[in-house]
Amino acid sequence: MKKIKDIRKEIGKIKKEGKIIGFVPTMGYLHKGHISLIRKAKKQSDYVVVSIFVNPTQFGPEEDFERYPRDIKRDIEILKNEKVDLLFNPEVDEMYKEDFKTWVYVDEFSEIFEGKFRPGHFKGVCTVVLKLFNIIQPDKAYFGWKDAQQLIIIKKMVNDLNIPVKIIPCPTIREEDGLASSSRNVYLDERERSKALCLYRALKRIEQLVKKEKIYNREILLKEGRTIIEKEENVELQYLEMVKINDLKKVEKVEKGTIILGAIKIGKIRLIDNLLIKKF
Ligand code: AMP
Repeated sequence: MKKIKDIRKEIGKIKKEGKIIGFVPTMGYLHKGHISLIRKAKKQSDYVVVSIFVNPTQFGPEEDFERYPRDIKRDIEILKNEKVDLLFNPEVDEMYKEDFKTWVYVDEFSEIFEGKFRPGHFKGVCTVVLKLFNIIQPDKAYFGWKDAQQLIIIKKMVNDLNIPVKIIPCPTIREEDGLASSSRNVYLDERERSKALCLYRALKRIEQLVKKEKIYNREILLKEGRTIIEKEENVELQYLEMVKINDLKKVEKVEKGTIILGAIKIGKIRLIDNLLIKKF
């Protein structure tokens, strides 16, 4: 369905039947990461809505909005196979009327890490996610750890604005070699793809140092990670940080709820990844 008024009608009926609505927002070009969210939603709800919307307001002017991969036919087949109840795939002008003026922004959290390299990105994300929540009115919404900062920011927005939806975090799904599944992986040629793995290798090395060698110090761990990435030619390390999962504040030592966030750039392609570090 493409129109908000049609969605509202349908959701109205479902709500009257007292069904639990699970919602999975996506930008399409579905892969096994998205499918894992959908399957979790199917298990935990009576009625599953997926949205496919490449949201222009979360892309910077120099970014890949125009060339972001799209294949709605293939996506619809996947959704049918997964027995998704409803697809919402609006056009841009259905979501943003010409006179659109209202924005949602989570202060501080939105300016660091991804926000620093993608100014305005999280303002676009929060605005579209809140709009989607208002249209779909889900009981539960599913987000991947793959985009850890996004998940943390959405949780904060839901909390701060008392939005009646439960955010369900879902683990990162990876390809066989460890690369986090992503719609943007199609941009990578074979050489770039093997280079891209250095970020995951760095994260795993840090995890190993924590688990096996009991090294918890921020400087030592990050230095080791940086070295692995910097060894790789033509890969730019944009950030590698160790932060607390609830407020994205840097931590000096691994503690409960510590996450390592990283981003690299290979040519024009940016890739992000992260690992939740468990001490024991
Ligand atoms: P996107 O279509 O990239 O905007 O992603 C839609 C949702 O799927 C977001 O909540 C992402 O965090 C999640 N997602 C994307 N890739 C993965 C992955 N590899 N594993 C788990 N979730 C993912």
